[in-house]
Amino acid sequence: MAEFMENLPECTIDVLIQKIIDGEKQYDLSKIVSAYEKAAYWHRDQKRESGEPYITHPVAVAYLLLCLGMDTDTICAALLHDVVEDTPCTLEELRKEFGSDVAMLVNGVTKLKKIPTVSKEEQKAENIRKIILAMAEDIRVIIIKLCDRLHNMRTLKYCSDSKRRLISLETMNIYAPIAHRLGIAPIKEELEDLAFRYLDPYAYEEIDRQMNMRKESREKFVETIKEKIRNRLAEDFDPVPQVDGRVKSNYGIYKKVYRDGKEIEQIYDRYAVRVIVNTVTECYNVLGIIHDMFKPIPNRFKDYISTPKANMYQSLHTTVIGREGIPFEVQIRTWEMHQTAEYGIAAHWKYKEGIKGKDKNDNRLAWIRQIIEAQQESNDAEEIVKTIKNDLAPEDVFAFTPKGDMITLPVGATVIDFAYAIHTQVGNRMCGAKVDKKMVSYDYQIKTGEIIEILTTNAPGHGPSRSWLNICKTNEARSKIRSWFKKERREENIVEGKNELEREFRRNMIRVPEEDMGEFLAMDLKRHNCETLDDFYAAIGYGGVQLSKIIPRLKDEYTKKYVKDKNPQQQNYRPVKTHSGVIVDDIGDCQVKFSQCCNPLPGDDIIGFVTRGHGVSIHKTDCVNYLNSKDKPEEASRWVAVHWAEETQTNYFKVTIDIVANDRIGLLADISSALAEIRIPMHEATARELKNGNANVMVTISIAGVDQLNGVINRLRKIKSVISVDRTGK
Ligand code: MN
Repeated sequence: MAEFMENLPECTIDVLIQKIIDGEKQYDLSKIVSAYEKAAYWHRDQKRESGEPYITHPVAVAYLLLCLGMDTDTICAALLHDVVEDTPCTLEELRKEFGSDVAMLVNGVTKLKKIPTVSKEEQKAENIRKIILAMAEDIRVIIIKLCDRLHNMRTLKYCSDSKRRLISLETMNIYAPIAHRLGIAPIKEELEDLAFRYLDPYAYEEIDRQMNMRKESREKFVETIKEKIRNRLAEDFDPVPQVDGRVKSNYGIYKKVYRDGKEIEQIYDRYAVRVIVNTVTECYNVLGIIHDMFKPIPNRFKDYISTPKANMYQSLHTTVIGREGIPFEVQIRTWEMHQTAEYGIAAHWKYKEGIKGKDKNDNRLAWIRQIIEAQQESNDAEEIVKTIKNDLAPEDVFAFTPKGDMITLPVGATVIDFAYAIHTQVGNRMCGAKVDKKMVSYDYQIKTGEIIEILTTNAPGHGPSRSWLNICKTNEARSKIRSWFKKERREENIVEGKNELEREFRRNMIRVPEEDMGEFLAMDLKRHNCETLDDFYAAIGYGGVQLSKIIPRLKDEYTKKYVKDKNPQQQNYRPVKTHSGVIVDDIGDCQVKFSQCCNPLPGDDIIGFVTRGHGVSIHKTDCVNYLNSKDKPEEASRWVAVHWAEETQTNYFKVTIDIVANDRIGLLADISSALAEIRIPMHEATARELKNGNANVMVTISIAGVDQLNGVINRLRKIKSVISVDRTGK
């Protein structure tokens, strides 16, 4: 329990006033006093279950809010929070006397009037829904409610057994998680501890007993460690940083013992030492000193400074072993981080101006908006409470990669979530998982402390399965899987579809310039509900458009549009803008074909040969046919200078690569996965055994140019047992 929220010895207005006077913050004392008087008047005949006057409760709640540094209106609303619900006093009356803010806050925490026709459960759900809606309007509502609940939990022992259980359950499921989300750690911890005590009294007692057993020696241990650290830090720091020590809450220990199956002795962070410094740099300096003084336990370092928790908590955590062989946790933070860790969202009031209504900039409130959105979809209050519970579900699990990197995931996350949390590609290539070295199924739910190894494959065409969408828990994984289906497949589909169309066009002698393609295919795009050419290619790629059905008509259209003049010269030399990617220097762009003998690629030095009736055929300048022909008198004049047009990058050329390697199992698979990795489409692959025990693999791929081809060749040369990789003339 944080000291600043300690229980009042006496819940009287005098103690409250004294606290206000002693504090630095400005309050409207007379407004607070009249709120007290009003509340005292209306509650005058009521008693709490403990037998005390009822007014002690609102005063205690107001005191807790004062400890959190909340403002005058919040303190007034706390004093008045039960009058509308439990007495004849009306909201209107409060509004007149204390203003609309106080009235709105009181209304927010006032339960709905009992509706006799609905069940208790429904009534409860409706009330929680009301609070969530009210806190979306003004977050102070829930801060009041949390302090109200905290005081009720502190005094729960006076209630009946069954009531205790119900209230504790609700505290554990709803209020503690809300306090956690808002980052108000002392309230969260105390609510959990108190609820746990009533929900599992035997476990609580057992832990309490064990923790008390060596209380003295334990306190001495923490004291010694603190002293040691303080002395060491005094050498480097002036003033000496604050060093605190504490023992973990009973519920925190319970979770590790009962939920994670750990022995009490195995729980490393039963003891925690906290060092508070002035700057972030100092945090890391202190960490270095701590790791120098004590032996750090591997995989127990967490940097919440560079990656803060969702509730904005920041600190460095590390677990080290002291000379006595007892591990303990060290938390290192700045004073500002300390404020956030202790006060959470309430720090807005304690240290700043407070938030009026909603603050869109505070990440800690994002989940409230999500709940509100979810509740707009459903009118069933119980459904909404279920959403809230799911959304608030306790915390995170921490698991490790085999290299010791920690991954934080929500409870219930599976190995699929883990894989995508490491990297999108790890998720997409996942083909299995091991937890603590044992194979598990995809739906295995991760537990804290497990070491998880994701098995991946580079096999081409491998990707996530649609069923994963139902297995994964995080939105991150889900959206990555979805986008894989949309995007990764789409890209493949586009390349595939485009190649297919080009192949069919070539076969049918349809030569439409790239820039005219959209217009040429406009009708087909429309017919297949495609907005862009890429959509259309993708549709061809996945088989949504059958080319055999549209080619005949396209051929007719092509003839009508482009082949008006039957004169072959005209047809062959029609002024098409670099449709081929090659410009013939003296003619400009014209029909060209790439020779089969040397298969030139963009980037190669090239030369053209004017054929009879088939345009210009393009060869590499080192092609034997060119070298043999260029000096022959009857042919020499037909060789013309040509150069690559600049926009050829988007055109793809096929090239066959000749690979020789020591034959081994998996060679072909390695080659194809290497190509898939660098996203080079492979059209054909043949492998044959050579007499000397080597293998010869020929793969035909699409390539944009020589530079890319050289990259591919270099990549293939790195594959195990590969002897040579060469480009063929094919
Ligand atoms: Mn109350």
